[in-house]
Amino acid sequence: MIEIRGLHKSFGSLQVLKGIDLSMEHGKVLVIIGPSGSGKTTLLRCFNLLEIPDQGSLSLGELNLEFTQNRKIPHKTLMALRQKTGMVFQSYNLFPHMTALGNVMEGQVTVQKRSKEEAKQRGLELLAKVGLSDKAEAYPHQLSGGQQQRVAIARAMAVDPEVLLFDEPTSALDPELVGEVLKVIKQLAAEGMTMVIVTHEMKFAADVADRIILMDNGVILEQGTPQQVLEQTENPRALQFLNRLS
Ligand code: ADP
Repeated sequence: MIEIRGLHKSFGSLQVLKGIDLSMEHGKVLVIIGPSGSGKTTLLRCFNLLEIPDQGSLSLGELNLEFTQNRKIPHKTLMALRQKTGMVFQSYNLFPHMTALGNVMEGQVTVQKRSKEEAKQRGLELLAKVGLSDKAEAYPHQLSGGQQQRVAIARAMAVDPEVLLFDEPTSALDPELVGEVLKVIKQLAAEGMTMVIVTHEMKFAADVADRIILMDNGVILEQGTPQQVLEQTENPRALQFLNRLS
């Protein structure tokens, strides 16, 4: 369902992605781990073209994109790809002047052109799903970080994306709030939502991932099942990273 081939991305003279190949199937969870600065977030942002790769190709469903440094991606293609993806950021990025329900309705009304009534119904369903039925009318500043992140997940789901992308969804949270967010993500995984997750939570990665990729310095060091990557790797750099964590 998602296929990436030969993906390269530089910022000025800094080469951040140096030829990434991966593929994943519908309904699966791919977790990206690796040291800080290895290119995990940049790779994730390439999935929905928040970063435009310099080289390589990306296929998502029936959309196929080829990148070369000098070719601009047509706006229509960008929008088509973005509509297939929902992004959950480290720092929630909720609209501060809108209620939880307002946040979850916004994209449905503006992007999907749903009626307000329809968007409200779907929004309430999704807030119930993330355990926040009683917070529909609360504003972001009235919510804990964990609750804000759960609203952000509901918002990302509201436009019916084919894949949800998570960029370190718990790393801005106080430790006691991490569990409630991971629980929601695990529930989505159990329901067959296709997801790509960048995380430092190794236990969570082992629990939720169908496949893990371990990145280092712009390349994939290891990829495979959680067992293959976390327990059976013999790659010295991978071992160094994993040992440092445990
Ligand atoms: P990770 O998520 O693994 O920590 P990132 O993808 O965030 O890694 O960053 C990889 C490298 O790219 C880092 O050296 C970072 O400073 C650099 N980088 C990321 N985004 C930008 C940007 N927009 N402009 C310049 N450098 C960037």
